[in-house]
Amino acid sequence: MTSISALWQNLHAHPEPAGQEHQTRKILQDYLRQESDLQLFDRGSWFYGIHDEQAAETIGIRADMDAIFTSRGTLFHGCGHDGHMAMACACAHRIAGKKIGRNVVFLFQPAEENGQGAAECLPLFAERRIDRMLGLHNIPGYPLGQVLVTRGTFADGSLGLILHLKGKQSHAAYPEDGINPAFAISQLVCRLPQIQRLICFEQFQETTVIYVHVGEPNFGINAGEGEIGLTLRAQKNTDLKRLKETVIQEMKEAILEAYAPEQAAQVQLEIREQDVFPATETRPEDDAHVMQMLQRDGFDAALLPDPMRSAEDFGHYTAKTETFFFGLGSGIEQPNLHTDPYVFPTELLEKGGQVWEEMLKIF
Ligand SMILES: [Zn+2]
Ligand SMILES: [Zn+2]
Repeated sequence: MTSISALWQNLHAHPEPAGQEHQTRKILQDYLRQESDLQLFDRGSWFYGIHDEQAAETIGIRADMDAIFTSRGTLFHGCGHDGHMAMACACAHRIAGKKIGRNVVFLFQPAEENGQGAAECLPLFAERRIDRMLGLHNIPGYPLGQVLVTRGTFADGSLGLILHLKGKQSHAAYPEDGINPAFAISQLVCRLPQIQRLICFEQFQETTVIYVHVGEPNFGINAGEGEIGLTLRAQKNTDLKRLKETVIQEMKEAILEAYAPEQAAQVQLEIREQDVFPATETRPEDDAHVMQMLQRDGFDAALLPDPMRSAEDFGHYTAKTETFFFGLGSGIEQPNLHTDPYVFPTELLEKGGQVWEEMLKIF
Protein backbone atom coordinates (compact mmCIF):
# COMPACT_ATOMS: atom_id res chain seq x y z
CA MET A 1 0.00 0.00 0.00
CA THR A 2 1.26 3.47 -0.91
CA SER A 3 0.18 6.43 1.20
CA ILE A 4 -0.66 9.80 -0.34
CA SER A 5 2.36 11.41 1.29
CA ALA A 6 4.63 8.68 -0.15
CA LEU A 7 3.06 9.31 -3.58
CA TRP A 8 3.66 13.04 -3.16
CA GLN A 9 7.29 12.43 -2.08
CA ASN A 10 7.86 10.41 -5.22
CA LEU A 11 6.28 13.03 -7.52
CA HIS A 12 8.15 15.78 -5.67
CA ALA A 13 11.47 13.98 -6.17
CA HIS A 14 10.91 13.69 -9.96
CA PRO A 15 10.06 17.18 -11.22
CA GLU A 16 9.80 17.34 -15.03
CA PRO A 17 9.34 20.40 -17.26
CA ALA A 18 6.30 21.18 -19.42
CA GLY A 19 5.78 18.55 -22.10
CA GLN A 20 8.22 16.02 -20.61
CA GLU A 21 6.23 14.52 -17.75
CA HIS A 22 7.30 10.91 -18.54
CA GLN A 23 8.32 9.64 -15.10
CA THR A 24 5.49 11.61 -13.50
CA ARG A 25 2.86 9.81 -15.61
CA LYS A 26 4.36 6.45 -14.71
CA ILE A 27 4.35 7.21 -10.97
CA LEU A 28 0.72 8.32 -11.15
CA GLN A 29 -0.43 5.34 -13.20
CA ASP A 30 1.35 2.88 -10.89
CA TYR A 31 -0.34 4.46 -7.89
CA LEU A 32 -3.80 4.59 -9.46
CA ARG A 33 -3.61 0.95 -10.59
CA GLN A 34 -2.90 -0.09 -7.01
CA GLU A 35 -4.93 2.33 -4.96
CA SER A 36 -8.02 3.28 -6.97
CA ASP A 37 -10.72 1.71 -9.12
CA LEU A 38 -9.94 3.95 -12.12
CA GLN A 39 -9.71 2.48 -15.59
CA LEU A 40 -6.74 4.24 -17.18
CA PHE A 41 -6.54 5.57 -20.73
CA ASP A 42 -3.08 6.56 -21.88
CA ARG A 43 -2.98 9.23 -24.59
CA GLY A 44 0.76 9.80 -24.84
CA SER A 45 1.61 13.12 -23.26
CA TRP A 46 -1.53 12.98 -21.09
CA PHE A 47 -3.84 10.38 -19.62
CA TYR A 48 -7.06 10.00 -17.75
CA GLY A 49 -8.67 7.52 -15.42
CA ILE A 50 -12.38 6.91 -15.05
CA HIS A 51 -14.32 5.93 -11.96
CA ASP A 52 -17.18 4.34 -13.90
CA GLU A 53 -20.57 3.84 -12.29
CA GLN A 54 -22.41 3.70 -15.63
CA ALA A 55 -24.12 6.83 -14.31
CA ALA A 56 -25.90 9.37 -16.48
CA GLU A 57 -23.58 12.18 -15.48
CA THR A 58 -19.81 12.53 -15.66
CA ILE A 59 -17.71 15.04 -13.77
CA GLY A 60 -14.07 15.73 -14.58
CA ILE A 61 -11.25 16.70 -12.23
CA ARG A 62 -8.12 18.11 -13.80
CA ALA A 63 -4.64 17.99 -12.26
CA ASP A 64 -1.59 19.58 -13.90
CA MET A 65 1.72 17.68 -13.93
CA ASP A 66 4.59 20.00 -14.91
CA ALA A 67 7.37 21.50 -12.83
CA ILE A 68 9.36 24.71 -13.34
CA PHE A 69 12.95 25.92 -12.97
CA THR A 70 14.44 27.64 -9.93
CA SER A 71 16.44 30.85 -10.35
CA ARG A 72 19.54 28.60 -10.34
CA GLY A 73 18.20 26.65 -13.33
CA THR A 74 17.28 23.41 -11.54
CA LEU A 75 13.86 21.79 -11.82
CA PHE A 76 11.41 21.87 -8.90
CA HIS A 77 7.69 21.74 -8.24
CA GLY A 78 7.55 25.49 -7.59
CA CYS A 79 3.89 25.83 -8.53
CA GLY A 80 2.73 22.93 -6.36
CA HIS A 81 1.53 20.72 -9.21
CA ASP A 82 3.01 17.76 -7.28
CA GLY A 83 0.39 18.56 -4.63
CA HIS A 84 -2.36 19.03 -7.22
CA MET A 85 -1.67 15.54 -8.65
CA ALA A 86 -1.48 13.92 -5.22
CA MET A 87 -4.74 15.55 -4.05
CA ALA A 88 -6.56 14.31 -7.17
CA CYS A 89 -5.16 10.83 -6.47
CA ALA A 90 -6.28 11.14 -2.83
CA CYS A 91 -9.81 11.78 -4.11
CA ALA A 92 -9.65 8.81 -6.50
CA HIS A 93 -8.54 6.67 -3.55
CA ARG A 94 -11.37 7.97 -1.35
CA ILE A 95 -14.13 7.19 -3.87
CA ALA A 96 -12.73 3.77 -4.92
CA GLY A 97 -15.50 1.18 -4.67
CA LYS A 98 -18.06 3.80 -3.55
CA LYS A 99 -21.26 4.74 -5.32
CA ILE A 100 -21.45 8.51 -5.59
CA GLY A 101 -24.07 8.68 -8.32
CA ARG A 102 -21.87 9.81 -11.18
CA ASN A 103 -18.82 8.83 -13.17
CA VAL A 104 -15.65 10.77 -12.47
CA VAL A 105 -12.89 11.38 -14.99
CA PHE A 106 -9.49 12.28 -13.51
CA LEU A 107 -7.50 14.11 -16.17
CA PHE A 108 -3.74 14.42 -15.75
CA GLN A 109 -2.66 17.31 -17.96
CA PRO A 110 0.88 18.17 -19.06
CA ALA A 111 2.39 21.58 -19.79
CA GLU A 112 0.21 23.98 -17.84
CA GLU A 113 3.07 26.42 -17.40
CA ASN A 114 3.50 27.19 -21.10
CA GLY A 115 -0.23 27.24 -21.79
CA GLN A 116 -0.12 24.32 -24.24
CA GLY A 117 -1.26 21.38 -22.12
CA ALA A 118 -4.98 22.07 -21.80
CA ALA A 119 -5.33 22.56 -25.55
CA GLU A 120 -3.52 19.24 -26.05
CA CYS A 121 -6.06 17.42 -23.87
CA LEU A 122 -9.12 18.71 -25.74
CA PRO A 123 -9.59 15.41 -27.68
CA LEU A 124 -10.80 14.03 -24.33
CA PHE A 125 -14.10 15.79 -24.93
CA ALA A 126 -14.62 13.93 -28.19
CA GLU A 127 -13.94 10.62 -26.40
CA ARG A 128 -16.10 11.20 -23.33
CA ARG A 129 -19.12 13.27 -22.58
CA ILE A 130 -18.08 15.34 -19.58
CA ASP A 131 -20.83 17.41 -18.08
CA ARG A 132 -18.54 19.57 -15.99
CA MET A 133 -14.81 19.96 -15.55
CA LEU A 134 -13.37 21.09 -12.23
CA GLY A 135 -9.94 22.48 -11.41
CA LEU A 136 -8.08 24.01 -8.48
CA HIS A 137 -4.86 25.82 -7.69
CA ASN A 138 -3.17 26.13 -4.31
CA ILE A 139 -2.73 29.74 -3.18
CA PRO A 140 -0.05 30.74 -0.66
CA GLY A 141 -0.93 33.51 1.79
CA TYR A 142 -4.30 32.02 2.78
CA PRO A 143 -5.08 29.63 5.66
CA LEU A 144 -4.14 26.04 4.96
CA GLY A 145 -7.07 24.16 3.48
CA GLN A 146 -9.33 27.19 3.12
CA VAL A 147 -11.38 26.91 -0.07
CA LEU A 148 -11.21 30.16 -2.02
CA VAL A 149 -14.19 30.92 -4.18
CA THR A 150 -14.03 33.67 -6.77
CA ARG A 151 -16.55 36.12 -8.15
CA GLY A 152 -16.73 35.48 -11.86
CA THR A 153 -13.02 35.03 -12.64
CA PHE A 154 -10.39 32.89 -10.92
CA ALA A 155 -7.41 33.87 -13.06
CA ASP A 156 -6.96 36.64 -15.62
CA GLY A 157 -6.53 35.74 -19.25
CA SER A 158 -3.29 36.73 -20.91
CA LEU A 159 -1.93 36.81 -24.39
CA GLY A 160 1.47 37.49 -25.91
CA LEU A 161 1.01 39.78 -28.92
CA ILE A 162 3.88 40.21 -31.39
CA LEU A 163 3.69 43.06 -33.90
CA HIS A 164 6.37 42.81 -36.56
CA LEU A 165 6.94 45.77 -38.87
CA LYS A 166 8.68 45.66 -42.22
CA GLY A 167 9.69 49.08 -43.46
CA LYS A 168 12.70 49.80 -45.69
CA GLN A 169 16.41 49.70 -44.92
CA SER A 170 18.72 52.50 -46.10
CA HIS A 171 22.24 53.85 -45.64
CA ALA A 172 22.41 55.55 -42.24
CA ALA A 173 23.56 58.70 -44.04
CA TYR A 174 20.32 58.76 -46.06
CA PRO A 175 17.58 57.97 -43.55
CA GLU A 176 15.05 59.77 -45.76
CA ASP A 177 15.40 56.90 -48.27
CA GLY A 178 14.35 54.33 -45.69
CA ILE A 179 11.33 53.59 -43.51
CA ASN A 180 12.54 52.91 -39.99
CA PRO A 181 9.96 51.05 -37.86
CA ALA A 182 11.33 52.60 -34.66
CA PHE A 183 9.14 55.66 -35.19
CA ALA A 184 5.86 53.75 -35.45
CA ILE A 185 6.76 51.41 -32.59
CA SER A 186 7.64 54.27 -30.25
CA GLN A 187 4.38 56.01 -31.21
CA LEU A 188 2.54 52.86 -30.16
CA VAL A 189 4.37 52.67 -26.82
CA CYS A 190 3.32 56.25 -26.09
CA ARG A 191 -0.28 55.46 -27.02
CA LEU A 192 -0.60 52.41 -24.74
CA PRO A 193 -1.41 54.23 -21.47
CA GLN A 194 -4.31 55.99 -23.22
CA ILE A 195 -6.02 52.74 -24.19
CA GLN A 196 -7.19 52.28 -20.60
CA ARG A 197 -8.80 55.69 -20.70
CA LEU A 198 -10.22 55.47 -24.24
CA ILE A 199 -12.20 52.31 -23.70
CA CYS A 200 -14.55 51.33 -20.95
CA PHE A 201 -13.49 47.79 -20.10
CA GLU A 202 -15.69 45.62 -17.88
CA GLN A 203 -12.92 44.72 -15.43
CA PHE A 204 -9.21 45.03 -14.76
CA GLN A 205 -6.95 44.86 -17.79
CA GLU A 206 -3.38 45.87 -18.53
CA THR A 207 -0.78 45.94 -21.29
CA THR A 208 2.87 45.29 -20.56
CA VAL A 209 5.66 45.96 -23.03
CA ILE A 210 7.88 42.86 -22.95
CA TYR A 211 10.45 43.82 -25.57
CA VAL A 212 11.17 46.18 -28.42
CA HIS A 213 13.69 45.24 -31.05
CA VAL A 214 14.65 47.41 -34.01
CA GLY A 215 17.68 46.95 -36.24
CA GLU A 216 21.17 45.79 -35.19
CA PRO A 217 24.14 47.59 -33.61
CA ASN A 218 25.54 48.47 -37.03
CA PHE A 219 25.86 52.24 -37.20
CA GLY A 220 25.98 52.41 -40.98
CA ILE A 221 22.48 50.98 -41.47
CA ASN A 222 19.14 52.68 -40.97
CA ALA A 223 16.91 49.82 -39.68
CA GLY A 224 14.19 48.46 -41.95
CA GLU A 225 12.57 45.92 -39.63
CA GLY A 226 11.40 45.95 -36.04
CA GLU A 227 9.21 44.18 -33.58
CA ILE A 228 7.38 44.84 -30.34
CA GLY A 229 6.17 42.12 -27.98
CA LEU A 230 3.39 42.87 -25.52
CA THR A 231 1.59 40.88 -22.85
CA LEU A 232 -2.10 41.73 -22.68
CA ARG A 233 -4.03 40.77 -19.58
CA ALA A 234 -7.72 40.99 -18.67
CA GLN A 235 -10.22 39.49 -16.24
CA LYS A 236 -12.81 38.81 -18.92
CA ASN A 237 -12.27 37.11 -22.25
CA THR A 238 -14.41 39.74 -23.97
CA ASP A 239 -12.09 42.44 -22.59
CA LEU A 240 -8.99 40.52 -23.68
CA LYS A 241 -10.36 40.37 -27.23
CA ARG A 242 -11.21 44.09 -27.25
CA LEU A 243 -7.81 44.93 -25.81
CA LYS A 244 -6.07 42.97 -28.58
CA GLU A 245 -8.17 44.57 -31.31
CA THR A 246 -7.55 48.02 -29.85
CA VAL A 247 -3.76 47.57 -29.63
CA ILE A 248 -3.66 46.39 -33.27
CA GLN A 249 -5.78 49.36 -34.32
CA GLU A 250 -3.48 51.73 -32.41
CA MET A 251 -0.47 50.17 -34.17
CA LYS A 252 -2.08 50.89 -37.56
CA GLU A 253 -2.80 54.46 -36.55
CA ALA A 254 0.74 54.89 -35.21
CA ILE A 255 2.07 53.86 -38.64
CA LEU A 256 -0.11 56.49 -40.34
CA GLU A 257 1.07 59.11 -37.89
CA ALA A 258 4.77 58.24 -38.01
CA TYR A 259 5.32 58.40 -41.79
CA ALA A 260 4.27 60.32 -44.88
CA PRO A 261 1.25 58.66 -46.58
CA GLU A 262 3.24 57.04 -49.41
CA GLN A 263 5.74 55.59 -46.89
CA ALA A 264 3.02 54.40 -44.50
CA ALA A 265 1.41 52.50 -47.39
CA GLN A 266 4.62 50.49 -47.81
CA VAL A 267 4.89 49.35 -44.18
CA GLN A 268 3.91 45.71 -43.69
CA LEU A 269 2.48 44.69 -40.36
CA GLU A 270 2.61 41.02 -39.31
CA ILE A 271 0.68 39.95 -36.24
CA ARG A 272 1.42 36.80 -34.21
CA GLU A 273 0.16 35.46 -30.90
CA GLN A 274 2.02 33.37 -28.34
CA ASP A 275 1.30 32.01 -24.83
CA VAL A 276 -2.46 32.39 -25.09
CA PHE A 277 -4.27 31.75 -21.79
CA PRO A 278 -8.01 32.46 -21.82
CA ALA A 279 -9.37 33.96 -18.58
CA THR A 280 -10.51 31.25 -16.14
CA GLU A 281 -14.04 32.53 -15.73
CA THR A 282 -16.64 31.05 -13.41
CA ARG A 283 -20.40 31.51 -13.38
CA PRO A 284 -21.47 33.72 -10.46
CA GLU A 285 -24.35 31.32 -9.68
CA ASP A 286 -21.82 28.47 -9.30
CA ASP A 287 -19.62 30.61 -7.04
CA ALA A 288 -22.60 31.37 -4.78
CA HIS A 289 -23.80 27.73 -4.77
CA VAL A 290 -20.36 26.33 -3.91
CA MET A 291 -19.87 28.86 -1.10
CA GLN A 292 -23.24 28.02 0.40
CA MET A 293 -22.73 24.26 0.23
CA LEU A 294 -19.19 24.38 1.66
CA GLN A 295 -20.37 26.44 4.60
CA ARG A 296 -23.35 24.13 5.16
CA ASP A 297 -20.99 21.13 5.27
CA GLY A 298 -18.59 22.79 7.70
CA PHE A 299 -15.71 23.55 5.32
CA ASP A 300 -13.60 26.67 5.78
CA ALA A 301 -14.50 28.79 2.73
CA ALA A 302 -13.83 32.42 1.86
CA LEU A 303 -14.03 34.78 -1.10
CA LEU A 304 -10.83 35.36 -3.04
CA PRO A 305 -10.78 39.19 -3.09
CA ASP A 306 -9.25 39.52 -6.57
CA PRO A 307 -8.63 37.10 -9.41
CA MET A 308 -5.09 35.76 -9.73
CA ARG A 309 -3.20 37.91 -12.23
CA SER A 310 -1.03 34.98 -13.26
CA ALA A 311 -2.86 33.03 -15.96
CA GLU A 312 -4.06 29.41 -15.88
CA ASP A 313 -4.61 27.37 -19.05
CA PHE A 314 -7.76 25.72 -17.64
CA GLY A 315 -9.76 28.39 -19.49
CA HIS A 316 -9.40 26.30 -22.68
CA TYR A 317 -11.86 23.73 -21.24
CA THR A 318 -14.56 26.37 -20.88
CA ALA A 319 -15.12 26.22 -24.65
CA LYS A 320 -15.91 22.47 -24.37
CA THR A 321 -18.07 22.06 -21.28
CA GLU A 322 -19.25 23.74 -18.09
CA THR A 323 -16.31 24.42 -15.81
CA PHE A 324 -15.60 25.47 -12.27
CA PHE A 325 -12.29 26.53 -10.78
CA PHE A 326 -11.38 27.36 -7.19
CA GLY A 327 -8.39 28.10 -4.98
CA LEU A 328 -7.13 26.21 -1.97
CA GLY A 329 -5.16 28.11 0.68
CA SER A 330 -1.71 26.59 1.13
CA GLY A 331 -0.85 28.45 4.35
CA ILE A 332 -0.45 32.05 5.50
CA GLU A 333 3.33 31.69 5.85
CA GLN A 334 3.75 29.69 2.64
CA PRO A 335 6.31 31.29 0.23
CA ASN A 336 4.88 32.56 -3.06
CA LEU A 337 4.38 30.31 -6.08
CA HIS A 338 7.32 30.36 -8.52
CA THR A 339 9.85 31.35 -5.85
CA ASP A 340 12.83 29.17 -4.88
CA PRO A 341 11.78 28.36 -1.27
CA TYR A 342 8.29 27.16 -2.28
CA VAL A 343 7.42 23.56 -1.31
CA PHE A 344 3.86 22.21 -1.40
CA PRO A 345 2.75 21.66 2.22
CA THR A 346 2.16 17.94 2.85
CA GLU A 347 -0.43 18.77 5.55
CA LEU A 348 -2.71 19.81 2.70
CA LEU A 349 -2.71 16.47 0.86
CA GLU A 350 -5.46 14.61 2.74
CA LYS A 351 -7.45 17.80 3.23
CA GLY A 352 -7.30 18.42 -0.52
CA GLY A 353 -8.63 14.92 -1.25
CA GLN A 354 -11.51 15.63 1.11
CA VAL A 355 -12.27 18.97 -0.58
CA TRP A 356 -12.32 17.24 -3.97
CA GLU A 357 -14.77 14.63 -2.71
CA GLU A 358 -16.98 17.42 -1.38
CA MET A 359 -16.87 19.18 -4.78
CA LEU A 360 -18.10 15.98 -6.43
CA LYS A 361 -21.04 16.08 -4.02
CA ILE A 362 -21.75 19.75 -4.66
CA PHE A 363 -21.94 19.53 -8.45
ZN1 LIG B 1 2.87 28.09 -12.26
ZN1 LIG C 1 0.41 26.22 -11.31
